[in-house]
Amino acid sequence: MPTIPASKLGQNNVSASQSSCCIRLHVFYKVVIASVIILVILQYCFSAITESHKYEPWFSISHPQNPPNALGKPIASSPTGSLFERHENESQSSASTNATDSGGNLPKCPPVPPHLEGPITVHKEDVSTEVLERKLGQSLQPGGFGKPANCLAKESVAIIVPYRARETHLRVLLANLHPLLRRQQLQYAIFVVEQAGNGPFNRAMLMNVGYKEALRLNNFTCFIFHDVDLLPEDDRNIYSCPEQPRHMSVAVDVFSYKLPYAEIFGGVSAMRKEQFELVNGFSNLFWGWGGEDDDMANRIKFHKLHISRYPTNIARYKMLSHKKEKANPTRYKFLYSGKRRFKTDGLNSLKYSLKKRELKPLYTWLYVDIGSSKSS
Ligand code: UDP
Ligand code: MN
Repeated sequence: MPTIPASKLGQNNVSASQSSCCIRLHVFYKVVIASVIILVILQYCFSAITESHKYEPWFSISHPQNPPNALGKPIASSPTGSLFERHENESQSSASTNATDSGGNLPKCPPVPPHLEGPITVHKEDVSTEVLERKLGQSLQPGGFGKPANCLAKESVAIIVPYRARETHLRVLLANLHPLLRRQQLQYAIFVVEQAGNGPFNRAMLMNVGYKEALRLNNFTCFIFHDVDLLPEDDRNIYSCPEQPRHMSVAVDVFSYKLPYAEIFGGVSAMRKEQFELVNGFSNLFWGWGGEDDDMANRIKFHKLHISRYPTNIARYKMLSHKKEKANPTRYKFLYSGKRRFKTDGLNSLKYSLKKRELKPLYTWLYVDIGSSKSS
């Protein structure tokens, strides 16, 4: 047996102890890495649960990445089903119940509506009022009030559509919107606010009228201001009001699905009742096309609120085509001097006369005389 020199024996001992030390270090690192991974997973799960409870925007505009799949099920990669097929398959409210009743012993609706599909087919074809009312009206109450049949909705949403002489657009909007709103398990009503006469259109003033008149009918907590020609393409774009005002029509086909500019608040936007009160609603002074939505964005900023947005793969719309309205040449003047008028021009200076209110099967029709640019 060869004799091993003492010096070598010592070296072996050292290298043996070094390697056992290395093994221990290795195991230690593995444990640390595994713990970090577990912590990250736990935190992710926890935040997903709490976030979904808040109905908050999943991401603001500065975080354009995909939101987590809040549906808890795979999203259909391509839209399926006809408008009415889907509608008929969903369990919905019956016309015999009251929109404002407490719902008896119904459980609260789940934070994530279970029947969402993700991307949906947009139906641009016109459907007659008769067919629409037959297909959609049976699960709505007069005035276009809808609510989930089997659970209590978290809030009550008024959808305000400023309107004049776009009959086809209105029918197409209703055909697309009602089924989506019901899938989202919302308690809601649609108000079509029609400007009487043929003077310059005042979109913002019609929104203010819709807000006031809606509150005379029900204690709505959330208001969605909705152009008649925008059709949502994804039902994860929930028609509710998060903690901050939300611009909903982020990606529109005619703008190549890109936000035209950072402060845009036109198209479709959502505000809580107290936020709309805080900013004194829209200005009443924007007659003709343009400016009123930017003025609202300024009001929001001035009152230390901020515009939130869902990401572009969800907050997606198609716009129906129409001829371009004549732009209001004085819009910049009012826009630049807006700040001085926030307190005095808006909900608290609104003047109009309601010529007609009718609870139609699919919406509440408000026909209003809002005067003219000369009278304001
Ligand atoms: N609108 C209307 N009739 C009009 C002008 C405007 O109903 O004669 C409403 C309608 O809801 C429309 C919105 O005001 O979607 C915005 O006007 P428009 O579509 O002309 O403006 P855009 O945002 O497309 O430039
Ligand atoms: Mn338009």
